Amino acid sequence: MDRNHVLEKLANISSYNRCVRTVAYMLRFVQITHMKRKFETTLSSEELRNASYCIIWNIQQLSFVEDIRQLQKDQPLRSHLKFLNPLLDRSTGFSLIRVGGRLDNVEFENFEKHPILLPSKSHFVWIYVRHLHLRNCHAGPKAVVALIRLEYWIVNARDLARRIVRTCMACVRYKSKLERQLMGSLPVERLRPEHHIDFCGPINTYVRIRGRGPTKSYLAVFICLASKAVHIEVVSQLYTKAFWLHSNEWLLGERCPLTSIVIMELTSWVQQRS
Ligand SMILES: [Zn+2]
Repeated sequence: MDRNHVLEKLANISSYNRCVRTVAYMLRFVQITHMKRKFETTLSSEELRNASYCIIWNIQQLSFVEDIRQLQKDQPLRSHLKFLNPLLDRSTGFSLIRVGGRLDNVEFENFEKHPILLPSKSHFVWIYVRHLHLRNCHAGPKAVVALIRLEYWIVNARDLARRIVRTCMACVRYKSKLERQLMGSLPVERLRPEHHIDFCGPINTYVRIRGRGPTKSYLAVFICLASKAVHIEVVSQLYTKAFWLHSNEWLLGERCPLTSIVIMELTSWVQQRS
C-alpha cells in the first residue's frame, strides 16, 4: 500500500487540532450517511479520540504494513521493530500496534504500559510533536520526548524532537547568541594600582534597645581598579568624619599601600562635608 487518501487529505493541514477535527467530521459523515446516526453540533471528546486512532491506524497501515501482516499471522518479526516486542491491540476499535515492553506487571494504565507505535517520518507525527512543543511553552527536546512517551512510542523520537525544537522560529530567536563587540583598550586607572571609593545604601541597622527604631547606615565600597578586589566597610553616617573613622585603618594599613584614590560623584561628597 503506497497511497493513503486520508493522510493525503491531511498533508496540507499544519495544525494538529485541525487534522483531528477534519477526520472526526469525516467519520461523522460516514456514520450519518451509512448508519443514519444523529449527532450533537459540536464534536465530542470520544469522536476526537476515535479520529486520532483512525489517523494513527492509517499511518501504521502505511509504514508498518509488513509487520502488521506478520503480527496477524503470529509470526516473528524480521524488522528492527522486533526489539520492541510489539503487539496488536484491538480494544480501541482499530487494530493498532503497541509496544510490548516489560511493564506488564506495573499498575499503570494500558496506554502507558503499551504506548502506540508511530514512525518518525510522517506529516501527522511531525505536527503532533510540534503541537506538544508549542502547547508546553516551547518545551525542550528531552521534555518533548517525555511527553510523547506518555501515550506514543515514536521511532527515533529524540531526533524528531531535536529537529522540531531546532526549526521552531521562537526558540531559535530566543536562543540566538548576542553579538560580541571587540573590547577597547583598558583605561589608565585599570592599569595602575588605583582605588575607587563609592557608597551604597542606606541600610537599616538595629540596636537592641527596646523602643529604639532603626538607624540608617551606609557601606563604603573600596575597589582596586587593577585587581578588582573589593573591600566593604560599614559607615554609620554620611559624614566625612564617620567615613574617616571607619575607613582610616584600612586606607592607611600596610596591606594595601595607596598611591591614588578615584572618587565618583564628587559633588555629593562635597555637599556632605562637615
Ligand atoms: Zn519553540
